[in-house]
Amino acid sequence: MSALATAELTAIYTDLHAHPELGYAEHRTAGIVANRLRGWGYDVHEGIGGTGVVGVLANGAGPRVLLRADMDGLPVTERTGLSYASTDTAVTPEGRQSGTMHACGHDVHTTCLLGAAATLAGARDDWAGTLVVLFQPAEELGSGARAMVDDGLYRRIRVVPDVVLGQHVMPLPVGVVSLTAGTAMAAADSLRITLHGAGGHGSSPEATVDPVVMAAAAVMRLQGIVAREVGATESAVVTVGSVQAGTQANVIPDRAQLLVNVRTFDTGVRERVLAAIRRIVDAEAAASGAPQPPEYESTAAFALTANDPEASERTRAVLDRALADERSRIEAAGGSPHVVSLPPMPGSEDVGELATAAGAPLVYWFLGGFDPALFAGFDLAGATGLGGLPAGVASNHSPFFAPTAEPTLDVGVATLVAAAREWLD
Ligand code: ZN
Ligand code: ZN
Repeated sequence: MSALATAELTAIYTDLHAHPELGYAEHRTAGIVANRLRGWGYDVHEGIGGTGVVGVLANGAGPRVLLRADMDGLPVTERTGLSYASTDTAVTPEGRQSGTMHACGHDVHTTCLLGAAATLAGARDDWAGTLVVLFQPAEELGSGARAMVDDGLYRRIRVVPDVVLGQHVMPLPVGVVSLTAGTAMAAADSLRITLHGAGGHGSSPEATVDPVVMAAAAVMRLQGIVAREVGATESAVVTVGSVQAGTQANVIPDRAQLLVNVRTFDTGVRERVLAAIRRIVDAEAAASGAPQPPEYESTAAFALTANDPEASERTRAVLDRALADERSRIEAAGGSPHVVSLPPMPGSEDVGELATAAGAPLVYWFLGGFDPALFAGFDLAGATGLGGLPAGVASNHSPFFAPTAEPTLDVGVATLVAAAREWLD
């Protein structure tokens, strides 16, 4: 029962990387996690929220600390060319066959949390309290954390944590950690909007209500929300990622479908933008004489990821020391250890659900996982993972996303262990 050696961490990582599983299908991954945790003396709870796994290590009276990782991969066909690249496939919830890939680094998170679980179990004479290591399903679907909470998470494990800690690997140089107090990641909402028209022959539009024109007008009007309804010091993104209607040139279809994605950094702005979308689309349908009003379905909803300011300050200091302790490893990789505070990212996360349900502060940081040489002369403030990256660094969700295994894994274990030790007695 001691810390995992680098070679073993790498072996766990490359195995997980080669076998990604989609949200709620993380059966193999969950099995590996549960077996390891049992071997280190954790009380293991499986099948929470589908495939969620929780290990509890009660080690006397003291604070209750939850460390979180996510386990799911994405329906992306890997093109990294890595020797341990995934060639697995799966059927998506929409029934489509797809390659699967750990294109968001959740394999890094799972491996690092296993490493931290081993280290903290091996060092249990040095701390007191209760350690909870939580491996959640389906972060990419935006519902895995909520599924665990709704499945009685804290009642079943009989622990409500005093703090929730976690990390996400990002396109930052290895050795760099970013921790932002307050809002760290955007809220995200995805909507499926169905517009109803009245179909007919393409030669006789006067006898129809054309949903293609209705959809086109709605798409253009939606662009006005950010331009005309969001203030100069506020921000939001409204993207129409899919427009679908019709089958051929001479048939006017009877419906059109829009898939809309919204990112916001403030709860008030979020509500305002979502209301504006409905107002505009309803009005466009009415203006076209639609036979029935549009239908709206929320297909994903991520709340803001907001770090507790006080808890973040406390954790920042210890992350700084953890990176300093890993200095030789980081410098050998060409990096230099430091903790930064990048501006809030437009990406989204559901880790906040675990903290909200516990009434506990959240501290969630970004772990650099890429070769520092790739960032030479690059302004880090632009490296927020979804654009403005240096050449050769692929963002999360790209088929080329390829964090460097080492020293990322060892550093990622060190940050989790140090943060947990700070909050345990
Ligand atoms: Zn992701
Ligand atoms: Zn992710």
